[in-house]
Amino acid sequence: MKTLPVSTFSAPKGTYDLLPPDSAAFLAVREALAAPLRGAGYGYVETPGFEHVELFSRGVGESTDIVTKEMYTLTTKGGTRLALRPEGTASVLRAALQASLHRAGSLPVKLWYSGTYYRYERPQAGRYRHFSQIGAEAIGTEDPALDAELIILAADAYRSLGLTGVRLLLNSLGDRECRPAYRAALQEFLRGLDLDEDTRARIEINPLRVLDDKRESVRRQLAGAPAMSDHLCQACKEYHEQVRDLISGAGVAFTDDERLVRGLDYYTRTTFEFVHDGLGSQSAVGGGGRYDGLSEMLGGPALPSVGWAVGVDRTLLALRAEGVVQDLPSPTDVFAVPLGDEARRELFAMVTALRRAGVAADFAYGGRGVKSAMKSANRSGARYAVVAGDRDLAEGVVQVKDLGSGEQSPVPLTAVVDDLRRRLA
Ligand code: ATP
Ligand code: MG
Repeated sequence: MKTLPVSTFSAPKGTYDLLPPDSAAFLAVREALAAPLRGAGYGYVETPGFEHVELFSRGVGESTDIVTKEMYTLTTKGGTRLALRPEGTASVLRAALQASLHRAGSLPVKLWYSGTYYRYERPQAGRYRHFSQIGAEAIGTEDPALDAELIILAADAYRSLGLTGVRLLLNSLGDRECRPAYRAALQEFLRGLDLDEDTRARIEINPLRVLDDKRESVRRQLAGAPAMSDHLCQACKEYHEQVRDLISGAGVAFTDDERLVRGLDYYTRTTFEFVHDGLGSQSAVGGGGRYDGLSEMLGGPALPSVGWAVGVDRTLLALRAEGVVQDLPSPTDVFAVPLGDEARRELFAMVTALRRAGVAADFAYGGRGVKSAMKSANRSGARYAVVAGDRDLAEGVVQVKDLGSGEQSPVPLTAVVDDLRRRLA
């Protein structure tokens, strides 16, 4: 066989191509994460892959890694500054506000999305510059049951995939009542530590984010930091208790994590992260929380909201780490192998009829010999091959071969579609 030249191009650093057969597992994960949302009243939303830079600098936060280090920005020929979307929440809220969804129907506005996101990160396993998320947002309602609903939906999605090693970390970040006093106490504490210049600057802009620092030298010093839980106001305390009760009641286990602040500025009250220990140097498979102030930050009305985003790539890695074998439907049920021109016509028509009847069917293209065609039939994963030559057609039959057992029997051409449907049912 002649070898074909390989392209001189490869995918950019930090990206990868999704190809069969792995892409089927990826689609199945995406579907498993989305299905519970559709079943809970969330409608699908799709927003552009790029937005005005300010949406993210304002919405995600000027001091976050996402905005300062990870955002891909560009200036159009017309001079507009755009950014490839690094996350979904700001865009989804922008879209809901723009369309006035919060005025059109009853609240909350429940939306789910699926898409690819872009962050200029140092690539490693599970950390890419182009990655995939499924997300959900419930906009316009302050109700601990809504926070609980979202957490339960994500936990159930992981469970439906067969994952057992996903842990839920939970925290409350307080609200505009109690957070300022905590923020001041934390700043006071952090100013006394031995930190580099960038981190010192962060103390003044967003001190909570210092708690999220992953460096061991910093983490060690944070041991005695004041805890938000000691500063929560009565309303936040009660709210958080209700969230905890509701998710416990649903049988979803969690760990209280005082240090959980997450990398985005807009969170208030409930914050959570789903982590998995089989992902090498990272652990987050998903995360989210309540963002009661974001709408106003974007110039909208007060719309208390809650949401999450789950990484599809990392969920797939978690499945692999646990050795979970997904139950994927075979891409092909029936493979047609024609011998001769008349058989080509007849079996091509049969394949079309099978597909129209809902049976996944494929065909030996390229007019190959029976040996090579049967090899393709076996490789396709089909359960049945339909083989026919001139002699079969003269008798009005085709040969249906069970590729598992090797058994073969003649079936009238006029009955073969129904026959195969019955066998596959
Ligand atoms: P990390 O702490 O690992 O950087 P993050 O807090 O930045 O995660 P989020 O912004 O909360 O992540 O995004 C939600 C989910 O999207 C994460 O839990 C993770 O599964 C996934 N994710 C985030 N960044 C990447 C990336 N660069 N590559 C692959 N998946 C990612
Ligand atoms: Mg990150």
